Amino acid sequence: MADTDILELRRLVGDARRIVAFTGAGISTESGIADFRGPNGIYRNKMPSADFNTFIRSEDFRRESWRRRFSGTGQITQAEPNAGHIAVAALYRMKKLTYVITQNIDGLHQKAGVPDDRVIQLHGNANYAACLSCEKRYELDEVRDMFFPDETPPYCTECGGIIKTATISFGQPMPVIEMQRAEAAVLDCDLFIVLGSSLVVYPAAGFPRLAQQNGSKLVIVNNEPTDLDPYCDLVLHQPIGETMSAVID
Ligand code: NAD
Repeated sequence: MADTDILELRRLVGDARRIVAFTGAGISTESGIADFRGPNGIYRNKMPSADFNTFIRSEDFRRESWRRRFSGTGQITQAEPNAGHIAVAALYRMKKLTYVITQNIDGLHQKAGVPDDRVIQLHGNANYAACLSCEKRYELDEVRDMFFPDETPPYCTECGGIIKTATISFGQPMPVIEMQRAEAAVLDCDLFIVLGSSLVVYPAAGFPRLAQQNGSKLVIVNNEPTDLDPYCDLVLHQPIGETMSAVID
């Protein structure tokens, strides 16, 4: 890793007072969760199947989704934060970081110690479920008990609505409040650090440019180049854990 790049990142972090970390699936690969578009990403092997409209329309699809959810290895629910998440949490404790805006659904920023109200989850959280009609929250253990033994897709005990993991699937509208909170955080930051995102999923991928146009410095730490690299104050094509650990040491 080029020492000059790390020194420059340390300088930018040192000068900053209101950092926003914008994280994608790449920050969690070092915790063993596959990303979408990296070299070992899910897109390289098979298309993701979590389509919202099909989930709503088809009870068979919901049954299959829950069956896979509960028969899987628990990749997301069992994962632990890695050095990248720990470094981001350290920036919060140092009173440098105001918010994490994350596209991830794994809850690992909170597990690393960033308070819930400082993590803006644009695509929800896979560690629990909710009713799509009344938004009543269900823990996954509860849903498992409802689903087995006869594999009936679960319905809300309050209103009869469809229960789904609390994630935003393809075809599902972006959550309005989270998008508003994210935009406010972006417009308030003086350093915006992208960690592990291919920056191709909009509208979220519009935040880095918005931050920069509002006067913030812009840094990307990502293994591969992105379309926004030319606009950055600093780009590091390096592993996130090692890079961010070197910044907070
Ligand atoms: P992406 O898969 O499109 O891009 C990830 C990027 O991170 C790639 O460019 C890859 O090269 C880079 N990367 C991977 N590991 C890295 C590392 N250790 N260090 C540095 N760079 C690394 O991810 P995205 O932009 O977040 O978009 C994909 C969508 O998939 C998101 O909306 C997210 O909701 C969802 N997703 C989430 C998870 C999760 O919660 N952990 C996992 C897979 C997909």
